[in-house]
Amino acid sequence: MRQLRDFLCEHCGIEQERYIDSAVVQLICPDCGNTMIRLIGMPKVSLDGTDPGFPGAYEKWANVREQNARIKSKRSYHGE
Ligand SMILES: [Zn+2]
Repeated sequence: MRQLRDFLCEHCGIEQERYIDSAVVQLICPDCGNTMIRLIGMPKVSLDGTDPGFPGAYEKWANVREQNARIKSKRSYHGE
């Protein structure tokens, strides 16, 4: 049975949607030739900081978030 599946190349981060037999769990990345893994009911790779593959992005995200929080609290402190 063919179903629409999401595949992700962990090497170059490319995502592809394919109508493919549900038994198929891997594809070959057209870009780098590496194995693409099937995403099963997972949200798209995001910069919400929970992806262990991007620790740098997480740090950045956390810092920015902290700064924003600080600016916000500063503003409300001096407000009115
Ligand atoms: Zn690739």
